[in-house]
Amino acid sequence: MTDCIFCKIVKGEIPTLKVYEDDKILAFLDIAQINAGHTLVILKEHSDAFSELSDKAVAELMTSVRTLAPKIAKAVGAEGFNVGINNGKAAGQIIRHTHVHIIPR
Ligand code: AMP
Ligand code: ZN
Repeated sequence: MTDCIFCKIVKGEIPTLKVYEDDKILAFLDIAQINAGHTLVILKEHSDAFSELSDKAVAELMTSVRTLAPKIAKAVGAEGFNVGINNGKAAGQIIRHTHVHIIPR
C-alpha cells in the first residue's frame, strides 16, 4: 500500500530502529515507547487488520512474537511482557497495517 506508513518502513522510505528482520517479518521499536523495548512486529506483506490474516500468516506472525518477546524483555531487564493487538478503529487501531505490540514489563 503506497500510503501505508508501515509499508514505507518496510521499503526503507521511513527510518526506524529495527529489532529483527527476515524475509517475511519486521520488528521495530515503537516511536512512542510505553516502556523501554516497546516493539511492533509486522508481516512485511500489507494487511489492514489482524482479523484479515490467513491461518498461515497468523502462525508466522505469532511465532515470531513468541520468539522475540522473551528476548526483548531480557534485553531491557524486564521480568515479563504484554502482547497486544488493536483490531479496528474502535479498538484503538491507528495504523492500518496489522501489527503486534510487545511491551516489556
Ligand atoms: P495502534 O494504536 O495499535 O495502531 O498503534 C500504532 C503504533 O504505531 C503506536 O504505538 C505508534 O506509536 C506507533 N507508530 C506510529 N508511527 C510510527 C513510526 N513511524 N515508527 C514506529 N512506530 C510508530
Ligand atoms: Zn502497510
